[in-house]
Amino acid sequence: MKVLAILYDGGKAAEEEPRLLGTTENKLGIKDWLESLGHELVAVHPASTQRAIIQVSSSKEGPDSDFQKHIVDAEVLITTPFHPGYLTRELIEKAKNLKLCITAGVGSDHIDLNAAVDHRIQVLEVSGSNVVSVAEHVVMSILLLVRNFVPAHEMIERGDWEVARIARNAFDLEGKVVGTIGAGRIGYRVLQRLLPFDCKELLYYDYAPLPPAAAEAVKTRRVEDLKDFVSQCDVITVNCPLHEGTRGLVNADLLKHFKKGAWLVNTARGAICDKDAVAEALKSGQLSGYAGDVWDVQPAPKDHVWRTAKNPLGGGNGMVPHYSGTTLDAQARYANGAKQILENYLNGKAQDPQNIIVGLGRYETTAYGQRDKK
Ligand code: NAD
Repeated sequence: MKVLAILYDGGKAAEEEPRLLGTTENKLGIKDWLESLGHELVAVHPASTQRAIIQVSSSKEGPDSDFQKHIVDAEVLITTPFHPGYLTRELIEKAKNLKLCITAGVGSDHIDLNAAVDHRIQVLEVSGSNVVSVAEHVVMSILLLVRNFVPAHEMIERGDWEVARIARNAFDLEGKVVGTIGAGRIGYRVLQRLLPFDCKELLYYDYAPLPPAAAEAVKTRRVEDLKDFVSQCDVITVNCPLHEGTRGLVNADLLKHFKKGAWLVNTARGAICDKDAVAEALKSGQLSGYAGDVWDVQPAPKDHVWRTAKNPLGGGNGMVPHYSGTTLDAQARYANGAKQILENYLNGKAQDPQNIIVGLGRYETTAYGQRDKK
């Protein structure tokens, strides 16, 4: 049985820091565990041994990539959202042995889930493993935009000191209306963390209403119409999965309904926001800021417009590489979770239901869009 793991290269950092588990060097900690079971783990050269059961590589793009070469006979695929191996329908059709996809982390949109349903390939993720990590990053990003932190820090590094240039676009979060698109594990934790900031209101937009007690606990109000929702918010944070119903959800048309000068934080998935429409809204001042860590293609191209987009005052950009959900604390949790899913599979044990995104021939979650269950 072949297990194929597509991870990112950690280089020197991963050699020096063994807790960087999500890397090709440290292999999610699965190496030691498999060896203890008498299996052998090898790198990408299958010719080197007949006993190879797991292939680990970062090479994922194009027909000559290890991903595309090894997917044709892999039974289990392990990927992470941070360095996504894009498993398209076309690749699924070539992957005749594939039975299980494990996402080491949260968010399996890099896999064509509808094709996985059609081909009875199960897709599991480590639900909850990094939701606190992301929620903390969201709160940080909201604050750094609203308080105009990045230009202030850059000014200090340059050796300048012009308080007025920063303060003219710095505000308090207190008294603002903050809303989350998606109030699942991350969205809800963001609301919990924002409660002590004394915002004017905390709103949410989600087709799945929160239980009344949960909504009451964070004093949030649901707004059912998206345009109405965005028009009420000073700050919007995106916390829903990427699926057919959310791809391009924040587009030029919706951005027109935002309050002038709103701040937008997206740590969910890059493709939920239209790249050019967001850059244009920032440039025109319709948005005062855009921050997040997710990009429509990863790694993001060097000339991706979100790397350098600025508001008319030269600030408002809080973009970073995809790492909010891959703190060392999170890596320990999702590496363990991925290992547990693999162990269950190898031993024929039942999987934790909350981790199952696609079961045999059907979606097992309602979070990836409103659809009739097959
Ligand atoms: P979750 O399943 O607990 O919650 C998702 C919520 O989004 C659900 O309540 C669902 O009903 C809602 N939703 C789905 N479609 C919607 C729509 N069209 N409009 C409004 N709400 C909608 O998931 P979670 O653990 O909170 O994670 C959410 C997403 O965050 C993941 O799918 C992933 O894409 C992203 N994520 C990013 C990172 C990172 O490192 N940046 C890490 C983890 C997760």
